[in-house]
Amino acid sequence: MAEQIVILERKVKKSFQLAREDITSLGNSISKLYEQIEKLSAEQQTLAEQLKAVKDMKQQKAQKTTYFLGSTETKKFHVPDCVFAKNIKKGSKILFPTKNKAISKGYAPCVCLKR
Ligand SMILES: [Zn+2]
Repeated sequence: MAEQIVILERKVKKSFQLAREDITSLGNSISKLYEQIEKLSAEQQTLAEQLKAVKDMKQQKAQKTTYFLGSTETKKFHVPDCVFAKNIKKGSKILFPTKNKAISKGYAPCVCLKR
């Protein structure tokens, strides 16, 4: 009888030990997972920042590759969002890639270009 108790006790101790090992390794896995999550969210933030930088660059490029609108009637040229540029008739519109190009063709800059 006493021997059985000792065996039982050993079995119980063994189970507890195994359970404790499991819990410890689970704990380790969880902290590793947390580390990975932290790393990933840091990476995600970096990526988001890079994406924003790329978007900003694209926007800047788009703004830089602007053009100028001239009127063959008035022989003046404007920035595309100028009120006068919007009033140019379809048939009188002429596009210039640069200010110099417009000037070289005999067009005068509108006040919108002197801002
Ligand atoms: Zn203008």
